[in-house]
Amino acid sequence: MKKECSICEEKFDFVYQKGEQFPPYFPFCSSRCKQIDLARWLNEEYQISSPITGEELTTKDEEALADFLPDEVEDDCITDEKKA
Ligand SMILES: [Zn+2]
Repeated sequence: MKKECSICEEKFDFVYQKGEQFPPYFPFCSSRCKQIDLARWLNEEYQISSPITGEELTTKDEEALADFLPDEVEDDCITDEKKA
């Protein structure tokens, strides 16, 4: 069975017999290509998660929090600051 590696696009023979485990690097041609895929995936994760800490989202979070918090809590905070 011929498989094409999605990293290096090299065709490689993939032999699977029932009852046997898949190769540790499956579905790539080698463990090296599997590591490249993993690194790419981790990089994408990092790029997706980093903009969440951006200014726009922080402002929205603060607005949502202000709507959620009752006035009493804000009064308590002011009182605590005066005591301290
Ligand atoms: Zn490969």
